[in-house]
Amino acid sequence: MTQTKLRKDVLLKVAEKSTGIKEKLNGKKIKKFGINSFNNQIMREKLPKDVYKKLKQTILEGKKLDMSIAKSVAHALKEWATEKGVTHFTHWFQPLTGSTAEKHDAFLEIDNDGFVVERFRPEQLVQGEPDASSFPHGGRRSTFEARGYTAWDPSSPAFIKEGPNGGILCIPSVFISYNGEALDKKTPLLRAMEDINKSASRILNMFGNQSTRVKITIGTEQEYFLIDKSFYALRPDLQLTGRTLFGAVPPKGQELDDHYFGTIKERVLGFMQDVEEELYKLGIPAKTRHNEVAPQQFEIAPIYAEANIGADRNQLMMQVIKEVADRKGLAALMHEKPFEGINGSGKHNNWSIQDVDGNNLLDPGETPEENLQFLVFLVATLRAVYKYGDILRATVASSSNDHRLGANEAPPAIMSVFLGEHLDSILNHIKEGKDFKSSQDFVIDLGINKLPSILKDNTDRNRTSPFAFTGNKFEFRAPGSNASVSLTNTILSAAVSESLSVMANDIEKEKKKEEDFDQAVLKVLKKYIIETEPIRFEGDNYSEEWVEEAEKRGLPNLKTSGYAYDAILDKKNVKMLKDRKVFDRIELESLYNTKQEKYITELEIEGKTLINLVRTEIIPTAIDYQTGLIENVQKASMLMKDFDIDTGQDAKHLLEQISELIKNIRASVAELEEKMENAEAKDDLSEAAKYYSDEIVPQLEKVREPVDELEELLPAEEWPLPKYSEMLFMI
Ligand code: ADP
Ligand code: MG
Repeated sequence: MTQTKLRKDVLLKVAEKSTGIKEKLNGKKIKKFGINSFNNQIMREKLPKDVYKKLKQTILEGKKLDMSIAKSVAHALKEWATEKGVTHFTHWFQPLTGSTAEKHDAFLEIDNDGFVVERFRPEQLVQGEPDASSFPHGGRRSTFEARGYTAWDPSSPAFIKEGPNGGILCIPSVFISYNGEALDKKTPLLRAMEDINKSASRILNMFGNQSTRVKITIGTEQEYFLIDKSFYALRPDLQLTGRTLFGAVPPKGQELDDHYFGTIKERVLGFMQDVEEELYKLGIPAKTRHNEVAPQQFEIAPIYAEANIGADRNQLMMQVIKEVADRKGLAALMHEKPFEGINGSGKHNNWSIQDVDGNNLLDPGETPEENLQFLVFLVATLRAVYKYGDILRATVASSSNDHRLGANEAPPAIMSVFLGEHLDSILNHIKEGKDFKSSQDFVIDLGINKLPSILKDNTDRNRTSPFAFTGNKFEFRAPGSNASVSLTNTILSAAVSESLSVMANDIEKEKKKEEDFDQAVLKVLKKYIIETEPIRFEGDNYSEEWVEEAEKRGLPNLKTSGYAYDAILDKKNVKMLKDRKVFDRIELESLYNTKQEKYITELEIEGKTLINLVRTEIIPTAIDYQTGLIENVQKASMLMKDFDIDTGQDAKHLLEQISELIKNIRASVAELEEKMENAEAKDDLSEAAKYYSDEIVPQLEKVREPVDELEELLPAEEWPLPKYSEMLFMI
């Protein structure tokens, strides 16, 4: 029996669902802000003064925790948590899979007299030892020597995750092997943050600014879809692969553009408010919510934070969205392309650099001096994308994001930077060594050292660019909605850091020749403006002309992950990351292997799910219908004998069409199976990944086509899977 009858029942139920949201806000939720986060305020309250001071210092300077204060901190944490009904604790970390991992331990201990006591030892706070062998490590260690440990990252606040029966104290941690190699996504990010702190501070010092600490800030705009959970329950493809492997595109998609920024439906609003309440409790400042372009697609954005905290928060945000959806009878889809023919979901990664006083270093300043410094940071970022765009592209590569990049709804796989007219013109002036006086209105010569004052322009007029300057930050739009942003920010920060130190060296050299500091800086700027010109593009990134133009400029256009990953082991990238002490070669090899393994496994699951659905739902449904048609034709031909009429022609025609489609489906599935066997026979990971990109992915589409045609031919009530028109418009 196929699911056909179930789909009918579900349709009725979804239509009857009430929104049931009557509660009003009254500021109540804001009051809960941070109640489950061991944040600065709580720390100051709960910790002895000297301990608080030391811990704060540790956090500000990004240093390791002084063991002498761990005892006090552990005690305070336990007291705070148990008061709130917490029974267990866990080190909470991001293994290479991209999600987060936790292993709960009770505070419970038995003392010498056999009494049960609640205890949280300082060693337990500082270090944990999960069995490293079960986490992906890209073939680095054999299982018997798989020893790793987690260590608290005190700069990211501990938090409480509420459970149905008591909470869990989560301690944000790094995960490293006993010889100090990173086994997670956070360790390299912390290393890159430390590295750019040094190189950016060096630039600041050159400009006469004292710097104690420079921070990377990120703000992630998270897109997602919501559908009714009952539909989700009837779509094994959504459950197992995150996307619909079949589904005819409905007569109404997003053509009317009526969803973007439209009124938020009450059921959805209720969901969003619950998500925000949960996030607020965790101290995550969710700020913006709106409808996105596609039907039932939405976005949530927090206020930005330091990179490691921002990355942790994004992981938590995704979890909260999924959990609250589940609670509200909804399913949140975070896959980059859950529905074919409908816009996919991304995660815009807003990125900037800040000094210790909170001044944004990518914010054009008031004075020529400030502007010159701003231009150094800007051009350093340009150079980073120019030189390391290939590995930046690799960081956002995944089987799911392949559906999005380059599909004329998201930025293409070609990395380029959009600066906007004003900045573009200023860079061109510097390149040509022109006097700013002679230029257009928007550049004003302040008469000092021929430096321009840069008009602030926050309007970003190019939504097609993968890497756009948006007034005081860069917005990297290629990351997928499902991805962790740790790696992307690690590579971006390391690359900008390298550019800053290369430029600092150059400025020093020029200064020896050139006496005048500003002129020395301008000279260096000019050099890199010329060098990075190919990466600058102000036009339409979706256009075919850009693809051609980019090729002429020598910019890579790697559309599929199987090819994009190779940049991870590219010589220049390995060297840069090693020099910056962000990744060593072994870590990069393991990253490369893990990414490819994940890519292959995800596509393997897609292939198997698709074959299974075809066999157990699609073909049986089609054959049932075919049988009915055959009976119809038989009866009609009997009638024809008695009367001289020509009925049965339509059924005959339909029968031919259906039979042809069934034949096509069977043939393309057989081909898919053969290809999957070929893939399995490949020992070399990179070769296998490329085979998946070239052969399996297109074959999945080949099976899909006749199935979608079948869906459009069969009576709606016979179809076993919820249709796009139902999933995307009934909520
Ligand atoms: P838009 O949709 O126009 O891109 P949003 O307000 O939706 O704008 O998102 C902008 C994101 O950028 C927010 O998460 C915001 O906190 C973040 N952001 C703003 N300033 C900075 C900054 N200096 N560094 C990093 N992120 C920032
Ligand atoms: Mg944006």
